[in-house]
Amino acid sequence: MPRTPLIAGNWKMHGLKDALGYFDALAAAGVVADGREILVCPPATLVAAAAARAAIHGIAIGGQDCHTGTSGAHTGDISAAMLRDAGANYVIVGHSERRGDHGETDALVCAKARAARAAGLTPIICVGETLSEREAGQENGIVAGQLTGSIPGVFGPADFVVAYEPVWAIGTGRTASSDDIAAMHAFIRSSVPDGEQVRILYGGSVKPENAAAILALSDVDGALVGGASLDPASFADIAKSV
Ligand code: PGA
Repeated sequence: MPRTPLIAGNWKMHGLKDALGYFDALAAAGVVADGREILVCPPATLVAAAAARAAIHGIAIGGQDCHTGTSGAHTGDISAAMLRDAGANYVIVGHSERRGDHGETDALVCAKARAARAAGLTPIICVGETLSEREAGQENGIVAGQLTGSIPGVFGPADFVVAYEPVWAIGTGRTASSDDIAAMHAFIRSSVPDGEQVRILYGGSVKPENAAAILALSDVDGALVGGASLDPASFADIAKSV
């Protein structure tokens, strides 16, 4: 089965001035096309309204995080089932900002991925090494550990998406080289069961200027875009590079 490219935007903690008009602008720019999937992950407060507007255009919506449970006394948390009810199809889990800011472990990320799948969402499981880990030549070991620890053993290849995001390339303007990306994506593909069928996204300072080169790499099945996804014109340019 061919791996359909997935171009995903992660708005992080940004509310856009015209959050709903964003989807009209994306569609008008011609991003929606056969053979690629477009996904936007807005802050939780916008998921329901965004999902209603995005659905008109064939654009998918995802959450940025979810709880491991279905409901209960968890102040401030949102379950995967709630995201699903609000119209989401995907959820990002284990983003390095969650791992870093909230001390999320591989085991927690794994439980979130399982909860997401149980609720009918596709989890985008993020992995990636820090700069010091790369400089110490530990990137493969770090990423292998994150994959083993964060992907539920019961998952089949269509149950999840992997996003490789080197921490040192996120929001820094510094992109990994094509050689580094190609090597890591091939490593990830060979490390996960049925890797040929798993979609692997690259994330970290993807922008219109570098998207085509990154997306042309054979083991790169799409992108997870932070900063550049906040502007519909930039995100559209990236999406149309695939
Ligand atoms: P960036 O973020 O594109 O702003 O580097 C990517 C991400 O964190 O998903």
